[in-house]
This record gives sequence, structure tokens and C-alpha cells, in this order.
Amino acid sequence: MPEPIDPFESGGVPSLMMIAEKFPSCLRMKRGRVAVAECYRRIPCNPCETACPAGAITIGADINAIPVVDHDKCTGCGLCLAKCPGLAIMLVDASARDGTIEFSVPHEFLPLPETGGAVDIVDRAGEVVCRGVVTQSLCPSAYDKTPVVRFRVNEAYLMAARGIRAGKGE
Ligand code: SF4
Ligand code: SF4
Repeated sequence: MPEPIDPFESGGVPSLMMIAEKFPSCLRMKRGRVAVAECYRRIPCNPCETACPAGAITIGADINAIPVVDHDKCTGCGLCLAKCPGLAIMLVDASARDGTIEFSVPHEFLPLPETGGAVDIVDRAGEVVCRGVVTQSLCPSAYDKTPVVRFRVNEAYLMAARGIRAGKGE
């Protein structure tokens, strides 16, 4: 029997199970913004841990260890998101309780999309999965001017949505 294929190893895209393991509980997401650190590989990196004022991210003595987020300690400030060189961290927020989720993601492309604009939302493979609405584009000094875009999508896309298709805002 052939070895099962690890979708992350074969295509660079994490499996649904790998993604789900990084997410907070539904209860925590309903309390407001919270970090999801999609860091899957052992690499020598730890700015997310040192940036977190709440002590919510643990890598520990082995700098190659995979970061673990304590979602109950996380305040959703986003500082780790801005510091992560791998663009591996996003925030999710289900506090609206209206069947939508707000995502906050680092966004490398200028110009930043306008608030209120409808945009194509892509998954981790870069494929368009749904439409979303931009709720905020920001580039605060506290984030070292790392641009961050917030967008809202139907909650059915919680696990699928990962970013905005660059240059396709309306
Ligand atoms: S969002 Fe803020 S509190 Fe939460 S893990 Fe990141 S730096 Fe820490
Ligand atoms: S800063 Fe980003 S890439 Fe580095 S360990 Fe943290 S989550 Fe992973």
C-alpha cells in the first residue's frame, strides 16, 4: 500500500487538520480578536514570542520549536502578526455573532484596499474561495508600519479564508 501523502509536504499547503489544530475554541473567538499562528515547521525564529506583551506565545529555550499560542492569554493586539517575518500569523474575531468572521492579515501589496470594498478572498493555495468586505486597512507605527487588512466573510469560510487577492479590490 502506498504511503499516505502529506498535503503540506507535497504542495506547501497545510491540511485541514493541521489548520484546525492552530485555531482557538469557538468560545474564545466569540470574545474578540485572537491570534492564529500558522507556523508549521521547526525554524530558528522567535520574534512573535518576544513581541507578545501578554506572554501568550511560547517557543522556549529551543528557538527551533514551533510557537504555541495560549488563546486565553491573547488579547488580540496584533503585535505578533506585525513582527512575524513569515506572515504566518493572523487574527480571527467572531464577536459580531452575526454569522460572519473578521480576519486581520498582513498585506504586502499597495495600495491597501479601501474600507467597505468588496474583495476576492483566497485560501492558502491562493485560490479564490469567496467574496469578503474590507472592514479596515491600517499601517500603525506600533506595527512597525506593517500593513494589515481586516476583512469580513461568512463564517462558513473560517478555515478556508486566508487573505485578499491582491489588486482585485472594487
Ligand atoms: S495578538 Fe497580541 S496578545 Fe495575542 S499572541 Fe499576538 S502579541 Fe500576544
Ligand atoms: S515569528 Fe512567525 S515564523 Fe517566526 S516562529 Fe513566530 S510564527 Fe513562526
